Amino acid sequence: MLTESTVLGRTWEEWEKACPVVADIRALRETGWRNEDKKSCREAIEDCELTMADVLDAGRRLERFAPYFAAVFPETAPAGGIIESPVREIPRMKAVLEAQEQRSLPGRLWLKMDSHLPISGSIKARGGIYEILKTAEEIAIRHGLLHEGDNYRMFDSQTFRELFSRYCVGVGSTGNLGLSIGIMSARLGFRVTVHMSADARQWKKDMLRSKGVTVMEYESDYSVAVREGRKLAGKDPYCHFVDDENSKTLFLGYAVAALRLKKQFEELNIRVDREHPLFVYLPCGVGGGPGGVAFGIKLVFGDAAHCFFAEPTHSCCMMLGMATGENHRVSVQDFGIDNLTVADGLAVGRASGFVGQLMRPFMSGCYSLSDERMYGMLAQLADSEGVHLEPSALAGMYGPVLLEKLPAFREYVKQEAPADVMAKSTQLVWATGGSMVPKEEMEGYYRKGREILSR
Ligand SMILES: *Cc1c(COP(=O)(O)O)cnc(C)c1O
Repeated sequence: MLTESTVLGRTWEEWEKACPVVADIRALRETGWRNEDKKSCREAIEDCELTMADVLDAGRRLERFAPYFAAVFPETAPAGGIIESPVREIPRMKAVLEAQEQRSLPGRLWLKMDSHLPISGSIKARGGIYEILKTAEEIAIRHGLLHEGDNYRMFDSQTFRELFSRYCVGVGSTGNLGLSIGIMSARLGFRVTVHMSADARQWKKDMLRSKGVTVMEYESDYSVAVREGRKLAGKDPYCHFVDDENSKTLFLGYAVAALRLKKQFEELNIRVDREHPLFVYLPCGVGGGPGGVAFGIKLVFGDAAHCFFAEPTHSCCMMLGMATGENHRVSVQDFGIDNLTVADGLAVGRASGFVGQLMRPFMSGCYSLSDERMYGMLAQLADSEGVHLEPSALAGMYGPVLLEKLPAFREYVKQEAPADVMAKSTQLVWATGGSMVPKEEMEGYYRKGREILSR
């Protein structure tokens, strides 16, 4: 812990005065920040360097690879080789939250189950896999092995694997990104190294090693693992480093989720328009995953969609960066916060500057919640709906409650949608991971949650 310090030339007290939410953040209180800089979607899109055309291009690339996926990952065959997760209503969990909070929550509560995405069991199956596929496609084209109209099943061949074995892939990760990049890269034939931070779970390292991935372990946190990985990869022209903090490719891979969500909503007869707003709550680490998904959602649903980032109180780097306006120039450690959380996908002390800046005109706000609350909701969701998620994935679940509870968010809702419109809203909690957590580990989480609830 730092005892006293200045951050970008201001003392902590000066920051608190300039930006009141910093006091809550420093005290590790659960809190929220409303983005006063949000613009109309039309204006925000006009100023943005990325466009719908980019997202559609990413969507088409994933479709080209579908025949390959259906062949090498049979679990994706029923969906034709498309990696997608279900959306499901969770009315019993809604009732549990209402009883606990002694207040009714507006609209219907839904869960987007990226926890159950094939291959890596987390939201990282979107961006991580997409970036590796794009890299592989470029290499294959450059070597004259791939032409327009080819069936991408041929990526599953000795010729392609031999080509990719001349290349390597590196990534720094708290765990889940490593899983998705590692599994995908190894499967295509790349040599792949995952640089893991100290908080990464042992089972993730074991699983990667069992698939032929090199795992480097660091005693420090995520940003050091990334820095080391980037340094090593930078020396080698045959090495592609997946840069979680700055990659637009990852970001676009995540954004494709919104195109699929639109179809799923149509099938479920869920309307999204001014009279039927959509509120989305996204667990946020470095920001690429939730930022990319939120970006896609804003492109698809426009002003009818309201997106919030959710973070642990000990790692709320995105809220800190956005609230101070300094993005990646500040870290939670700068403010004396330890970045220790059970939510390993979210244990990030410094947010992506690229995401903070790009998403500034699109986001509605950010909030933080305690590890205890994630554990408690983990047990409640398991009991009420039979859905098992990892702690990170519960961060979004507190959003619908805070929308009613937190003065800054209530004010926001009052301005955006009257009560009768809120009653017709869709509240979507983005569940980012969990289906690959080993049973004993999950039971431990559940017991902990039950114990916290019984206090
Ligand atoms: C990585 C991750 C997130 C957040 O994604 P970022 O791109 O790091 O913001 C959320 N939940 C889980 C389970 C994750 O693994």
